[in-house]
Amino acid sequence: MARIGVFGGTFDPIHYGHLAAAVNARHAAGLDRVLLVVANLPWQKEGDRDLTSAVARFGLVREAVVGVAGLEASDIEIIRGGTSYTIDTLVELREKSAEDEYFLIVGADAAAGITSWERCEDLPKFARLVVVNRPGHPKPSNIGEFDSPIFAEIPSLAISSTDIRQRVADGRPLEYLLPPGAVEYIRRNGLYRVGSRLYSE
Ligand code: NAP
Repeated sequence: MARIGVFGGTFDPIHYGHLAAAVNARHAAGLDRVLLVVANLPWQKEGDRDLTSAVARFGLVREAVVGVAGLEASDIEIIRGGTSYTIDTLVELREKSAEDEYFLIVGADAAAGITSWERCEDLPKFARLVVVNRPGHPKPSNIGEFDSPIFAEIPSLAISSTDIRQRVADGRPLEYLLPPGAVEYIRRNGLYRVGSRLYSE
């Protein structure tokens, strides 16, 4: 039986804030591995802006975890297609490997909104909750029907995907905000440049 973390995100693009959250959640909850699950269509972000194609966002995550023990890129939601609901992912993982134990990893902001997620009342049947908190951020009080969440504290890294996209558009440096392999992937595929094919695909 393995202890598996499930850390979902739009990851447009993934950066060191996400990766610090994943490795610290793994440590705090004693997980064998953490799946970084790339959302195919994150329905709560629909209409905000054009998302990078899910395949390119997955490519970025795959590059970002190279050589990091215990972190894996997962395309389970891309293969399933359609709108990405976390409950469907947990059900599918449990069907594939029923003997494993699952831990849903979320940032503090995402945890505070978890009661708005699809079939949120069913989530605790499939996974325990791990909340990644940053200093100065209050621990979320409303976490649905989850019992005794595990808290993992990480340093506050003021890195955001929005800033990284803007940096590419402005031609500013990306180094030290995300792993070199992901920086290289952005440049090789021309992501986030205005008019880029993959930017709005
Ligand atoms: P995202 O923007 O890519 O962020 C992914 C996670 O990384 C979030 O939990 C976020 O925490 C954390 N994070 C971002 N910047 C960070 C930083 N600098 N330091 C530490 N942590 C940082 O992904 P998202 O679009 O919010 O989606 C998160 C997951 O929730 C996805 O799997 C999505 O499918 C799922 N979701 C599911 C439903 C549903 O099932 N109906 C609805 C909504 C979301 P914070 O939240 O604290 O920023």
